[in-house]
Amino acid sequence: MKAVISASRDNLLGLDKSDLRELAALCEEPQFRGAQLFRNIYARRQRDFAECTELPARFRHLLSSRYRVDYPAIKARIASRDGAVRYLLSLHDGENVETVFMPDEGRLTLCVSSQVGCAVNCHFCFTALLGVKRNLEAGEILGQVMAVTAAQRIPPATPFNVVFMGMGEPLLNLAPVMKAVRILADRDGMAIPLRRITISTAGIVPKIREMARETVRPKLAISLNASTEEQRTALMPLNRKYPLSELLQACREFPLGSRERLTFEYVLLDGINDTDSDAQRVAALLGGIRSKVNLIPYNAGPDLPYRPSPLRRVLAFQKILQDHHIPAFIRISRGQDIMAACGQLRLAGMESETAPVDVAPSVSPG
Ligand code: SF4
Repeated sequence: MKAVISASRDNLLGLDKSDLRELAALCEEPQFRGAQLFRNIYARRQRDFAECTELPARFRHLLSSRYRVDYPAIKARIASRDGAVRYLLSLHDGENVETVFMPDEGRLTLCVSSQVGCAVNCHFCFTALLGVKRNLEAGEILGQVMAVTAAQRIPPATPFNVVFMGMGEPLLNLAPVMKAVRILADRDGMAIPLRRITISTAGIVPKIREMARETVRPKLAISLNASTEEQRTALMPLNRKYPLSELLQACREFPLGSRERLTFEYVLLDGINDTDSDAQRVAALLGGIRSKVNLIPYNAGPDLPYRPSPLRRVLAFQKILQDHHIPAFIRISRGQDIMAACGQLRLAGMESETAPVDVAPSVSPG
């Protein structure tokens, strides 16, 4: 416990109920005070211990003198014409991550990062150009949700979705990601139903199997993006280590709720992976997996050689999947007017507080 507290520099964000029970015990308070503190930090989003009035005055004073509840600072905020807002958040060591708020016909979604940068090196992804700096702690993942919901003035108890599709490969940082998920889903925490939380992976097969064994399990999305082993290896070198055949076998074995489907994300790249034959092969690959496919026309930007597939190709691809009874949805990246995929804010060097500018967010394909 001491190690947890000092590792996060006395910031209590990221500690779960059992950590906080232990903290209460260290402060010579009954353990149920830890559960009350948990509710104050996550459900009520209380940052000032003096306002936690259900706690006894002695405990509040002790907390105020020793600990803090810190959210990441907002370094830049860029609003899109379509309502999406991209945030650049600054962490305690000066590193930055991106978090995207996406409102869509009454549905609110937060796209969070799991690492600073990413090591996976998908060739169509801007975050890959950054490399990986470090993993995020659970508190830094939760801090993104806290900071952005506060900035967007989203009251506690408002339903929203959380997708791990920002910077980083969540399954390469599984323990802190799952700790954050459990706090997000806890009824005394942020009370977000698991069906509203999605972890998206480029396909780290052993970690998919590990996630399959979790008792508190969010939804899983797989970034597919290709219809053959060769094509996938060319776009996602990770496929050499975890080939499509092994990935799909892990998907077949992944436990699903009675009405749940695995999501496969497929970024459509003009002339690369968007032919009718690709669609036929994807339909064949997904045979026997209860799945749906999100087709994402590529959101082009500088520095990468890919172009988005034309709409007629997107529609043709969708029709072929639907003809094979695979639900297929076209997901237009949000915030096309304020730049493309995750990582671009950092790459663009926009690392100081900026006024909203006319450039928009989307999610990183992985
Ligand atoms: S698409 Fe996802 S997994 Fe691939 S490099 Fe980008 S952030 Fe990493």
